[in-house]
Amino acid sequence: MSRDTRQWHPDFLKYMDAIINHPNYKGLRIDKKSDGTYKWIATAQSDVGLARIQWCEKKALELGFSIQPGVYADVMLAIHPTKKKVCQICGREMSLYYHYPNSSFLKRLNVIFDGDYTDCDDINDIWDDVIDRGFSKESIAEVLVSAGGLSLDPNVTSKTEIITALEYECRKGNHKCLGPGAMSNFPDRFDGFHTYNRCCRSSQDKGRSKENLKTYTKDRRAYEYWSDGNIHAANLFMGSKFFYGCSADHVGPISLGFVHDPRYLKPMTGSDNSTKRDRLQSEDIEKIIETEARTKVYPMSWYSASIWEYIKAHYGRADNQDLARYRDVLKQNMANFMYILWYIMENTNGKGEQVLADVFLKPKYKYFQYEYEFNEIGEITATHARHFTERSANEFERFVRIAIEAVYDFNNKANRHVSPDLNNAEMSMVRTICGDIVSAAAPGAISAKIRNLMQAVQEREMAHLQQ
Ligand SMILES: [Zn+2]
Repeated sequence: MSRDTRQWHPDFLKYMDAIINHPNYKGLRIDKKSDGTYKWIATAQSDVGLARIQWCEKKALELGFSIQPGVYADVMLAIHPTKKKVCQICGREMSLYYHYPNSSFLKRLNVIFDGDYTDCDDINDIWDDVIDRGFSKESIAEVLVSAGGLSLDPNVTSKTEIITALEYECRKGNHKCLGPGAMSNFPDRFDGFHTYNRCCRSSQDKGRSKENLKTYTKDRRAYEYWSDGNIHAANLFMGSKFFYGCSADHVGPISLGFVHDPRYLKPMTGSDNSTKRDRLQSEDIEKIIETEARTKVYPMSWYSASIWEYIKAHYGRADNQDLARYRDVLKQNMANFMYILWYIMENTNGKGEQVLADVFLKPKYKYFQYEYEFNEIGEITATHARHFTERSANEFERFVRIAIEAVYDFNNKANRHVSPDLNNAEMSMVRTICGDIVSAAAPGAISAKIRNLMQAVQEREMAHLQQ
């Protein structure tokens, strides 16, 4: 009936052990096999199954739940210590809440927000990503409120309130737009949930490709911000064994201009999942400074480097308000940079894309020509030339295409929440650069002018910090 537990994912075995020994499950029956391992699975009609049902009904009364259809699922969710379950097949951890978009709702989200989300992306993460990509909070709030027929005002209700309300509606079967990371299955499974998660519902292969899609979504975001760093090594590190069963987090948010580089990636733990996002926290700044000193890899993309130098020099005396202002200035600088790229692309008789790609993206091709080995803190321990040069060329083309498209996307959204604020002098520099591109000036000279312009923009933005 079930696969041999020896083939189960090692993280799932750890998960079973933690659940069986957790005090919340004290007294819930589980037998052992002759080899001493636990029998996680029992049928409802067996002695074990009946004992589990009795236990669960008693627990329901303790919790104040009435015994009615769906009560086992309610109890097992209520007592679950982490609300996150590891997948028996692939080891991926997913939420037990109804947090994952079902197919038609997913299609709608992807159309409205021009995304490539999957049905294994948590709605909390999708919400943050949508906002990172320049949409307003109200626009995503409105889509969720209408999907669940919620009587909440999208303009004033918080993310947590809206998602909590929509999750409840879906869990209670009133709406179907969201589904859980694992379906409930009590008393057949000791913890009350299917052993395989949403990621591996139909087959192991499907689970693997979902994992790849997840990485695909992540690397795409770094490409969108024209991030510096060894971007190819960062993608490989995110897909490495060090991130098995968890996702990778940038210590410095790439939406603020920080690099996409393995040395600035870390596993994201359950507790800070989706709460941090583009916030700047002092422990992260300390970690970035330490990493920069140790690895000599610069943490910030070139277009925000002066602001980073300012932060580094001043953060010792910074309070939370200062940290919020650093973040705002970096966000504003990003909006200005993306606007300058867009303005150049739109006002150079079609020549701007190629010139910008040659000047700022092409130098990154070197990263795609190698494969890398890592230690657990993302330091590169070995570099190998790649044999598949055609594949690396395709990956690089994809990177350029995404980076260019992202500039149009960033600037085409009527409802993006940070608008560019270039002054007249800066706009006149942009127009000079456009003229140079149209008259086919040397790429080196064009690059230097854009860098000078971004220097001027950063200095003006930093004046806000010195007040
Ligand atoms: Zn799985």
